[in-house]
Formats: sequence, structure tokens, C-alpha cells
Amino acid sequence: MRNKIFYLLVCILVGIACQKSETATSSSNEVTTADLQRISALGFNADRVHKTEGGFIVEGDIFLSHEDLLKPEILSVNATSLNEEHYRSPGLVAGLPRILRVNAHPSLPPSIQAAVDSALLRYNSLSLAITFIKVTTPADIHINPVSISPSVFGVSGFPSGGNPYPVIQLNMPVLLPWAHPTITTSITHLIGHAIGFLHTDQMSPSFSCGTGGAGISDGVPGSPGAVIPGTPSGPSPNSWMLTCISNGINRPFTALDITALNVLY
Ligand SMILES: [Zn+2]
Repeated sequence: MRNKIFYLLVCILVGIACQKSETATSSSNEVTTADLQRISALGFNADRVHKTEGGFIVEGDIFLSHEDLLKPEILSVNATSLNEEHYRSPGLVAGLPRILRVNAHPSLPPSIQAAVDSALLRYNSLSLAITFIKVTTPADIHINPVSISPSVFGVSGFPSGGNPYPVIQLNMPVLLPWAHPTITTSITHLIGHAIGFLHTDQMSPSFSCGTGGAGISDGVPGSPGAVIPGTPSGPSPNSWMLTCISNGINRPFTALDITALNVLY
């Protein structure tokens, strides 16, 4: 019974990327079977897991620290709605309406700065209960450049304590050559995680990635499952929260994306 309860616990507490973990479960660069089992039990796709400093990058761009895997928090899951499509994390930004300050690191080149501006404009044009403004420090969300080996366009995480995930990393070698609409979509996507959205094709990432294994079926024990009312079952074409993207793709918010954003914010 305890095991059953454990698999219903879901941890979306997210640490800061590159923070050294004091309780690392493994010192090697190998992702162990136990790691994969924990990640899967939390409801994330375990097909493409990269070990990084302090934790793992899952589903391409989501950072989970070792502590995240060990300190699950209870997620209230409505089991009757697990077939619905747009997923949210248990943590959301609280204190609405709210202005979120975004700092784009000054070392980011003009093309990336412009894409950050465009990403914030995409959200602000929806008149949500969260409004993004670009500031110098202090900020609620810092967008920083990194250069990391996994083939990911960036790394983000989920809200904690009513606040957005504080650090979004942009993988410059991947992003820099891309077209402005693709970079804008990628940054909008990473901000989407930071305010609590999961991948819209989480149950079948091959929908956007081409390959990705069987994905995660709806209703498996431990699925994040906190789905968003009003969004449909089945794939959500062109959603800004699809798992994978490649250069040349632009994903402005679809009508279903806007529904999901309005439900949460
Ligand atoms: Zn993502």
C-alpha cells in the first residue's frame, strides 16, 4: 500500500540548474535504472533523460534535481479527466493578478533579446492575470545563456511556492542559428514551463519529436495528470508546449493554447 501511495505522489519541486546536489544519488554520468524509474513514476517521459549537474534534463528541456526525485509532494489528481490534453504542474504562480519581472542577461545578443521581447508580447497580448515586464535585476525570472552538451534548446522548470521557476537557460549553440520566430517560440515555451505548463504531447512525444518511444499513457500511476479543463483529448497540433521543435517552426498560441492559458491565468 505504501508503494501504491508513493507512486501517486508527484514531485514538481524544481531546483536551480547547475546547482551542486549534496544528496546526489549517483556520482557517475550514467542514468541508472532507478533514476529512470523515479522519473517515470513522477509522470515524465523516461525515453530521453540526460544527466546534468545536480540532476536530470527530461523531455528535452525540463530540469529535475536529485532532490525533486526524493521529495515528492502530493498532487491532487482528478482521475476522471486524465484523458485531457493540456497538462499543468501542481505548482502555479500565485498572487494574481501579478506582474512578473523578467531579466534577459545583458550578454544575450540582440537577436535573442528581440526574441525575449517577442515572447513576452505573445503572453501580454492575451490580457492574462499575469503580465510580463522586462527589467534589470531583481527579477522573478532570469533568462541566461548557457552552452550545454545535450541537444536541447534550453532548460526550464516549474513554479514553486507560488513563484515562477526563477532561471531559464538558453542553449546558445542550438538557438543562435535559428530563425527569429523559432527562437521566440522556444523562449515562449520555456516561460510556459516556468509558469506551470507541461508538454502538450507528454503522453506521446513522438507527435512532435518524430521518435520518442511509447511516451506516457494517460492514467498511469504517478502521471502528473493535473490536466486543464476545456482542452481536448488527443494531440494538440501546433501547440506552443509540444515537446520538440526545429528551426523554421513557429508556434504562436493556438485557440486551445489560449483556452489553457486563460484557465490557469
Ligand atoms: Zn518543454
